This record gives sequence, C-alpha cells and structure tokens, in this order.
Amino acid sequence: MNERKGYQEYKKQSKKRKKRKLKRALLAIAMPFIMIFLILTMLFISMASVMPSVADSVVDDYKAAAELAGCTWQELLVYDTVRFDNDLEDVDPFLSAVDFLKLHYEKWIWVETDEGGYWQEVQSGDLATPSSICSWLTIPTESDIQAILDAGKRVSESGSSDVKWVIQFSNKDLEELIIKKEFDTDQIEWVDTLMTAGILDEMFGDLYDLPDYIDTTEGGYFAWPTPELHSVTSKFASVRIHPVLGIKRAHNGVDISGSNAMGSPVIAIEDGTVIYVNLSGGERGINIKVQHKIGDDIWISRYQHLSAVKVDVGDEVKRGTVIGGVGNTGIGTGPHLHIELTYNGVLIDPLPLIRE
Ligand SMILES: [Zn+2]
Repeated sequence: MNERKGYQEYKKQSKKRKKRKLKRALLAIAMPFIMIFLILTMLFISMASVMPSVADSVVDDYKAAAELAGCTWQELLVYDTVRFDNDLEDVDPFLSAVDFLKLHYEKWIWVETDEGGYWQEVQSGDLATPSSICSWLTIPTESDIQAILDAGKRVSESGSSDVKWVIQFSNKDLEELIIKKEFDTDQIEWVDTLMTAGILDEMFGDLYDLPDYIDTTEGGYFAWPTPELHSVTSKFASVRIHPVLGIKRAHNGVDISGSNAMGSPVIAIEDGTVIYVNLSGGERGINIKVQHKIGDDIWISRYQHLSAVKVDVGDEVKRGTVIGGVGNTGIGTGPHLHIELTYNGVLIDPLPLIRE
C-alpha cells in the first residue's frame, strides 16, 4: 500500500517537474522575442520623440521653401524641428528659409571718358542675416523668402544706362547656421541624428530611387575624383564616432587618400558648373560644390579639405577638369579628399557611383 502511494506521489512529482521544465523551455524560447519587442518599442518611442511631427502637406511647404532658399528641405525641416523643440504648429517654413539666405550685392556705375567709357564697381557687400537683408532691400523685417527674392529681382532690374546693380543670392549650410545660432551639444546631436542619410527621406520622401541612367552594377556613373589616390579611408555611414571630435556624427561622404596625398589633383566627377567656393569653410576646410544637371535631375558634388582651388564660382567644368588639390584644411586626420554627393537634394553614398 505504502509502496503504491509512494509511486503515485513520485508520478505526480515528475509530472509537476515536467510541467516546470516545459514552462522554463517556453520562457527560454520566448525571452529573446520579448527582449526584441521591448527594445524595438523603446527605440520607437525614443525615435518618435526626435522625429519631426509634421504632416506630409507641411513637408511639401518645406520642400517648396527650401527650393527657393537653395538649401535642402531636410536641412530646413531639421533646423526648425530642433530649434523649436519639435513644436512646428505655428512655424512658417517660408520665413525659416530666410535664415539660410545670403545676399551679395554690387553697384556699378558707367564712367564717361573721351574714348567712350567703362563700368566701375563703386560699392559691394555681403549680407547674411535676415534683418540686414530686409533692411537693405527696404522691405519689412520678417519678410518671407519669396518677398525677399522678389525684392532682389526688383533691385536688379532698377538699373539704368549709367547704374547697374548685381544681386546674388546664395545659401548657408546647416552647419554654418547652427554654429551662428549657438545650438547646444544636445541640439547638435539631434541635428546629426536627423540628418543621417535616409531617415527623413524614408519618412517623407520617395527620392531614394536612382534614375534609370544610373546603373551601379556597371561600376559607377561619375568619374573617380582623385586620379592618383585610390584608397577609401572612410565610408559613408549614418553614424560613426568622429575621429577628431570624438562624438557621434554622421559621415555624409567618402574619404579617399593614398601615398603623397597632399596636393594631389582633384577633378570634377562630371560636366557641371561651380556653384560654391569656400576658402574658410570651418570643419569642412576649403571646399567646392559643383552642380551637374542631368536631364531634370540636379546632382551636386562637394569636395572638402582641399589645399588649393583652381576654379571660381560660375566656372563651367568638364568631367576630368582639375578643380583643386587634396589637402588637410578644416577638421581632419591627415590629407584626404572628402567627397559628398547629393541627388535632387538628398545626400547619398557616392562610392557606388564613382568609377575607379
Ligand atoms: Zn570624411
């Protein structure tokens, strides 16, 4: 009798043990999924708080305003998102875009001489704040980007046979702007997170499809920018630890170097127009932008940390034209070329598109 009871008790216990084992096994299988779910949820919540909370229609306004200002819509949207702490309800992108604007003016007068005459520049200047631009154009401060461009056009057209005005609008980089506006470290990190290639485009854009004439399997489309240098020392990356600054930053281009890099020629990767030459570009050092119009598309290649510049704004260049020399200006770890490429305003990885 006792023996039988003992056996039944043993069976019961072993059933319980089996149940416990099964529970543990199930938990062990489920645990990773639970962890992944929790991590994703946390990631989503933390991303949601940094992503701009605007409707698609508002993003269309950002795209239109950015086009007028000559910056990218991503820059404009990120600028507002961060400085207004994601409270964009009452923000007018056409007003914000003005912050990206720079104005250069020249006044020329006709000087009569016995041999006929010549044009002489009597005045020129650069304006980089919205208030200085508005007051120079004698329009109300707080005028939006369209009003400013219209006023600039009016001044250009106000010339006569003996007075000529030259008005040129250009734009600031987001980097330039956030330094001027004294963004703090947290804000700069937020800007970097959002400018990480693709994040905003995936959310609001459909610009990531490359056009048909680009076939990356063919080994690139554009020329390799440094005929004498062939090693890629740093690739395009959404986030990396900056080698000098030590903080997390996106690497929005490709670094190319090699032996005897200093002074090595840098060429235009495609036919185009030089639209920007900066001889004191801060972190980027001496840098140049070349615009390439291909069909309806606008590509811009940017070459940084140069030691020398061989072109001027407005110059037409051919694929292969030497535009400068590799250098170590700005913030860097040695002479190399940092090249960036935008396709219709979107920063993309240049590496698959440049042919060695
Ligand atoms: Zn770089």
